[in-house]
Amino acid sequence: MAAVKVLPLRLPPLPSIKDVIRLYKLRALRELSQNFLMEPRLIDKIVRAAGDIQNHVVCEVGPGPGGITRSIIHRAPRKVVLIEKDPRFVPSLELLADACKGKVDVDIITGDVLKTDLAHFIPSDVKTDWHDPPPPVNLIGNLPFSVSTILIIRWLEMMSRREGPWSFGRTRMTLTFQKEVAERMAAQLMDKQRCRLSVMCQSWCTVNYKFDIPGSAFVPKPNVDVGVVTLTPLKYPLVKQPFKMVEKVIRQIFNMRQKYSIRGAQTLFPEEVREEMALRMYKMADIDPITRPFQIANTEFARICDAYSEIIKKYPEFEHYDYRAPKNKNPDPQPEEADMETDFVVNKM
Ligand code: SAM
Repeated sequence: MAAVKVLPLRLPPLPSIKDVIRLYKLRALRELSQNFLMEPRLIDKIVRAAGDIQNHVVCEVGPGPGGITRSIIHRAPRKVVLIEKDPRFVPSLELLADACKGKVDVDIITGDVLKTDLAHFIPSDVKTDWHDPPPPVNLIGNLPFSVSTILIIRWLEMMSRREGPWSFGRTRMTLTFQKEVAERMAAQLMDKQRCRLSVMCQSWCTVNYKFDIPGSAFVPKPNVDVGVVTLTPLKYPLVKQPFKMVEKVIRQIFNMRQKYSIRGAQTLFPEEVREEMALRMYKMADIDPITRPFQIANTEFARICDAYSEIIKKYPEFEHYDYRAPKNKNPDPQPEEADMETDFVVNKM
């Protein structure tokens, strides 16, 4: 018989999440991407994916009625920081905070995760050096689909500057995404899912696709499945250039994903010099111009970004060139519809 693992912290009896939802009349709001996980086994699986969180500071995004929060608290973290936009959940989260009073500190923040400075709620004594093992801080969340891709891009940028939760070291994340987005984040070279999100994530993090959760496990049921992903910041990020520059280079190269990658790279430069500059950039980076975007490795993208940076040092007038800006005469042909990379924000539900 398999040994039953005793969790470090027991809570007094609490109503089930289903009862909490009924008790507090917490009808799911579509505009806040509310899809609740009811199944304790799946909830525990997400929290287990974060590894050992005992004595850690755990920030949970969108706790909702608190299913994942309970599982986190059972593992005896030092502190839990909950960021929830919908104030209707506060009473049920306070119930949990009371249940673990004196054992786990719980901060409940009613607000938008995109506008919340998480670092403010993390005690300074957890700080580690970037090259040390990750600090005892974890970001966990069954993310609202409506903000998940915006949030991960924002967090990658903060990570690249070692700001916010990354001012404490290489803070790890365990997050859910629409399955298709999770697959893109983890997509390797030659994978048909590979896109700019793959390269952006993998340039700064080790991305692990952990497992799927079927849409049927959520209430209400979304019409997509979900992927659970862990991200651990790299000790040595693959790219050295500033985030916005890297984002621009990678976006333009993936803009025409079915064509030779140099076609997209050309759009980094004004029409008159486009072919010459892109070729020069590829030569400096030692990349074959006839590779397609999904055939370019992360380290090769890093070399393209270095070459682009060198070019704009020499020709600063190209730095703010924007291919997408409205043109008054002779408009460039836009990339073919079918070639356009679907934008990061995929409306899932
Ligand atoms: N954690 C709960 C669970 O797994 O059952 C709920 C997850 S539900 C997919 C997403 C949660 O994020 C909801 O509680 C929603 O109110 C909250 N939310 C939506 N947008 C948010 C935002 N911008 N900032 C913080 N929370 C947000």
